[in-house]
Amino acid sequence: ATPTSIMAGSGRAAEYGILFKGGEHLETTQHIQTVILDKTGTVTNGKPIMTDVRTASKWSTGELLKRVGIAESSSEHPLAQAIMEGIKERGIKIMFNPEQFENIPGYGVRARGYSQDILVGTRRLLADAKVQVPAEASAQMSELESQGKTVMLVAVDDKWAGMIAVADTVRDTSAQAVSRLQAMGIDVVLMTGDNERTARAVASQVGISKVIAGILPEEKAAEVKRLQQLGLKVAMVGDGINDAPALAVSDIGMAIGTGTDVALEAADVALMRGDLNSVADAIELSKRTMRNVK
Ligand code: ADP
Ligand code: MG
Repeated sequence: ATPTSIMAGSGRAAEYGILFKGGEHLETTQHIQTVILDKTGTVTNGKPIMTDVRTASKWSTGELLKRVGIAESSSEHPLAQAIMEGIKERGIKIMFNPEQFENIPGYGVRARGYSQDILVGTRRLLADAKVQVPAEASAQMSELESQGKTVMLVAVDDKWAGMIAVADTVRDTSAQAVSRLQAMGIDVVLMTGDNERTARAVASQVGISKVIAGILPEEKAAEVKRLQQLGLKVAMVGDGINDAPALAVSDIGMAIGTGTDVALEAADVALMRGDLNSVADAIELSKRTMRNVK
């Protein structure tokens, strides 16, 4: 590979909004066999909207949302932002700061407000606190998840109190990009901390059949390593702080869109367009450049 042709290839990539951090990454990209896509903010737009609120019979929607709002007001998670926005739109004002707040990455939040313990998050979060969720509520939750929604359970003083569903839209270009990658013989995998049912619903919208779901942020990198140990060259595409360790261990880490600085720093390539077609473009460009070089 001559430095000149690699520079030319990098320049051409830049015109497509694909920024390789070094010539060696442009060389490696041609060998990618598996592409792992983060779900939220990568396959989807990452701007979830609160769609459903269900409450246990003793709770009114307003009283429940006040507790949820207090708990989520200190969280910077996109899900928390969606919830806060939804609460505001419903005309509910959050007047107090939590008396206590704890962010539990991959699970949700725990807070104290109105002198009550408030939990908002996954099944596991509530199960760990020994909160009983009625069978009927579990069934409702599964139904919402089958629609591709992310559902968060709410408990107040360790009693199930309701659930909140949030929906994120798939990027317009994601399905096309996935089918392009598959046509190139590349295996595409969806990876998320969200639950399996929601993940499968989103995956099926874009034509992905392989899903790794329900994993904790720190497990994402281990999943990448597991595939590498099978002898595969793996590209990871992500946008969040959660994805940084996985971006760092993959053969090629790609940070997408207006991704967080942490993701950008951990990546080898920045995809400025926020369009997964850039992943296919990058691989095609790499192949073309290296072919000219030989
Ligand atoms: P992803 O990999 O999709 O970015 P995370 O690992 O950040 O997901 O979170 C996994 C799950 O934990 C979420 O789907 C949600 O159910 C729960 N969760 C995370 N943060 C919050 C929060 N601030 N409030 C409620 N639930 C949360
Ligand atoms: Mg993400």
